Amino acid sequence: MSTDESTKTICPYCGVGCGISVRQGDEPGDVSFAPWGEAPVNEGRVCIKGGAATEVVDHEDRLTEPMIREDGDLRPASWDEALSRVVAEMEDIRDEHGPDGMGFYASSKTMNEENYLLQKLARRFGTNNVDNCTRMCHASTVYALRESLGAGAMTNSMADLRDEADVFWIQGANPGEQHPIANSQYFRQAVLDGATVIQVDPHANKTTESFEIEESDRHMHLQLEPGTDIPLLNAVLKTVLDNGWVDEEFVAERTEGIEDLRETLADFDKEAAAEECGVPLEDIERAAEAYATADNAAIFTGMGMSQHACGVDNVQNEINLALATGNLGRPGTGVNPLRGQNNVQGASDVGAMPNVLPGYQPVDDDEAREAVEDVWGFEIPSEPGLTNVEITHSVGDTVHGLYVMGENPVMSEPNADRVADLLDETEFVVVQDIFPTETVEYADVVLPATTWAERGGTVTNTDRRVQRMRGVEKVHEDTRHDLDILTEVGTRLFGEDAGFDFDGPEEVFEELREVCPIYHGMTYDALGEEGLHWPCYEPGDEGDQFLYADSFDTPSGRGQIEGVRHQPPRETPDDEYPLILTTARLEEHYNTGTMSRRSATLSRQHPENFVDVHPEDAERFGVADGDSVTLRSRRGEITLRANVTEAIKEGVVWTTPHFADASANVLTNDVLDERAKIPEYKAAAVDVTLADGG
Ligand code: SF4
Repeated sequence: MSTDESTKTICPYCGVGCGISVRQGDEPGDVSFAPWGEAPVNEGRVCIKGGAATEVVDHEDRLTEPMIREDGDLRPASWDEALSRVVAEMEDIRDEHGPDGMGFYASSKTMNEENYLLQKLARRFGTNNVDNCTRMCHASTVYALRESLGAGAMTNSMADLRDEADVFWIQGANPGEQHPIANSQYFRQAVLDGATVIQVDPHANKTTESFEIEESDRHMHLQLEPGTDIPLLNAVLKTVLDNGWVDEEFVAERTEGIEDLRETLADFDKEAAAEECGVPLEDIERAAEAYATADNAAIFTGMGMSQHACGVDNVQNEINLALATGNLGRPGTGVNPLRGQNNVQGASDVGAMPNVLPGYQPVDDDEAREAVEDVWGFEIPSEPGLTNVEITHSVGDTVHGLYVMGENPVMSEPNADRVADLLDETEFVVVQDIFPTETVEYADVVLPATTWAERGGTVTNTDRRVQRMRGVEKVHEDTRHDLDILTEVGTRLFGEDAGFDFDGPEEVFEELREVCPIYHGMTYDALGEEGLHWPCYEPGDEGDQFLYADSFDTPSGRGQIEGVRHQPPRETPDDEYPLILTTARLEEHYNTGTMSRRSATLSRQHPENFVDVHPEDAERFGVADGDSVTLRSRRGEITLRANVTEAIKEGVVWTTPHFADASANVLTNDVLDERAKIPEYKAAAVDVTLADGG
């Protein structure tokens, strides 16, 4: 490897998919960040996470050799011993409990090829119990989009939105914090050029700040109570219906269900809804007019919408608004989920979900399943499997073994203390990762993997752009690429000719293309440095910047409108737990912090967790800014620093899941949306008190 050249790859953090370069020094592990000036998404700009991404590659905490638990402790082992143990334990579980005795966690942080191979491994083992972190972030969005429009992804692309959207409706998303380059380079640019932004969020945040542009009145912040998104959007929809702002031609030709919406809202009381939301009705009406009368209006949706027990209905109401006003099927419009992790879109695209095969083909669709079976050469179970939270909750009942690739359920799932207890009871846990995560504490076998910078493959960003990652030299001799580990586990489990013997990621991608229609037209050569947006059905297709120009991908070809009614969060404040906790992430950290907490640059910005408390609540509970406080829910408690601020609404507190010693997920509620099975991370009842010595 030349010391002068740098290797073009993709940032390992958020779903924007910025291109970065990694410069290789004289020694393995001697790597540094370099800008990639022509990168298609970001043209060389990066946020603090992208610039610091190489800091974790040669971190002292790296897992450097396989380990096996013996007499309660992990001890070093050879790869042969570790993999023999994995295979023997998995076979024992299958013999004793059947294939559904295993659950497989794919990773939204690993590449398409690796996730493809993990879900194939699960299905060859005989189970559909395989899922990825999309379950925790946008499962409800994907469900609603698939049912009502056709594809579980952004309808548009960042570029067409920047160039064509006149109104940006951003609800339950904080791109200023979570997707900094998309926010600065695309959305803020559009607002500087004259677009209006309407932000709907309980928290004033970096997105709010980023749009406060020189006294411009083109920014509105509707600061609603957590869990009142449906009444707020219903007030918007009622305003649209009452003022004749429905796009009648679009609705007649391209949608179904407007009558259901009219019936649902016939007696809807906007005044009462506005009061429930805590937002003045005139502001809601002004926002409705701006959206509905714009030439092109786009909705952006985030986890503030999806992470609720009514997450599917939340997103359905956004779809209702877009369809009723004809804001779909052309540039600058649509319903656009902002995906959190650099490959959460791709992990789902390639079938690492319990109900779909690659390309979102339902596993219970005989024709689709048989087409995949023809390529794979084995029978795929036809019943959808368990989601990741369901897998965890089934430990000791139907699930007895877990294969965890690049995921940290002990911190990422809600009600984390319960998750830890369940993992403790699991007969066999194998963890494949780069660092000793909190989940490694429950592992029977640990398989050390290479980092994002050391290997190649593809990832799919938030606007469906599939891009290639490229690797530099491996840092630790005894680590292996995820793909190579899965190849060997599959071959050991099922034999030489069982379809797991691949010579590198491109060979895997070639097979993926055969079973994934939306990727079928792509090759590594065609992806080049620009990447391609799916769907890309045939070689030579250039991919689609926006979806549904002529019809929706539903059985009737029409977009589905369906009225929805308010469902309060499952936990609401009471005397014992008088506050509502809502959660979100910080720009400088990433999910459970496995990588970002180990980055000196990122940790310096935010070394510890904190909780935002409104000044009125601080006074009510005797808390001062900087005090150490204990937050307590029905599921557990954490101690952290109080940040007294008017950025949060009275009656609401806000914290993050990033820090192992005080993670929000000790407190969060593990109740699920019935259809999408996403947990209600965004609303839990809590109490705050001064901690000992606070
Ligand atoms: Fe990486 Fe996202 Fe930052 Fe871009 S915006 S550099 S993809 S973390």
